[in-house]
Amino acid sequence: MLDRYKRKINYLRISVTDRCNLRCRYCMPDEGVCMVEHKDILTFEEIQQVVAVSVPLGIEKIRLTGGEPLVRKDLVELVRMIADVKGVKDLAITTNGVLLGKNAESLARAGLNRVNVSLDTVDPEKFSQITRGGDIRKVFQGIEAAQKAGLNPVKINCVIEKYADEPDALAVKQYCAENGLQPRFISQMNLAEGHFTVVDGGTGGDCAQCNRLRLTPTGKIKPCLFSDLEFDIRKMGITQAIESALFSKPKKGTINHSNCFHNIGG
Ligand code: SAM
Ligand code: SF4
Repeated sequence: MLDRYKRKINYLRISVTDRCNLRCRYCMPDEGVCMVEHKDILTFEEIQQVVAVSVPLGIEKIRLTGGEPLVRKDLVELVRMIADVKGVKDLAITTNGVLLGKNAESLARAGLNRVNVSLDTVDPEKFSQITRGGDIRKVFQGIEAAQKAGLNPVKINCVIEKYADEPDALAVKQYCAENGLQPRFISQMNLAEGHFTVVDGGTGGDCAQCNRLRLTPTGKIKPCLFSDLEFDIRKMGITQAIESALFSKPKKGTINHSNCFHNIGG
């Protein structure tokens, strides 16, 4: 499907939960996070239905994100349900990696193709500071398990404060080179202030090339990460919500006051 600016939209990013087992400083407040109620979160059947409706409209690539997708109970089952939809050419997940060691093998067997793991430093102390208590050893185990399970390529998402040659970013780059991983460097963004730049090593942040729609955990289709526009599949129906999002996809992102990274998924 093409939007008003003739961009081909073939990529749907699905945030399956607003919950997370880490508290990264640039993503979540320490406490007082406002979580949506369980009853408002889309069921697996609803998510599969959105995928089933979007594929004939032109969606080929699906990515599961969050929050932390692997804290959603039985996520492997959702992966299987999405992989079962005919026409899904690429099924990926973005994860902090903490639960990947336990799940990589079953995710691959269920039909997951690829994984992006977020890692901003290779220093255990610094990692614990950034994530407010995370254990980097679990992430390393998760990355290894993903490679063993054949979830290739494993990409590493590294959030940088300002420059891709910051010491932590350089160390991540070296770790990737030594371990057959593909790094992507993402400048820290601010949704409410509209700060975003093109992802170094990836495709995000370049409005002219944007090929995405997003689905929030509560069933809103969002045409743009940096916009308050959203269309509710439960109120409008899936097709109408997707078509409205497509039609109103802005030429360029501005600001988003209605979402945070931990519920829309970056
Ligand atoms: N929990 C998973 C993870 O961390 O990979 C998936 C969700 S997380 C919101 C998705 C991506 O957004 C991660 O790579 C994370 O580093 C990035 N992210 C979060 N907050 C950000 C911010 N303020 N600026 C840029 N990227 C951010
Ligand atoms: Fe959780 Fe990912 Fe946000 Fe970190 S970036 S707090 S891991 S959702």
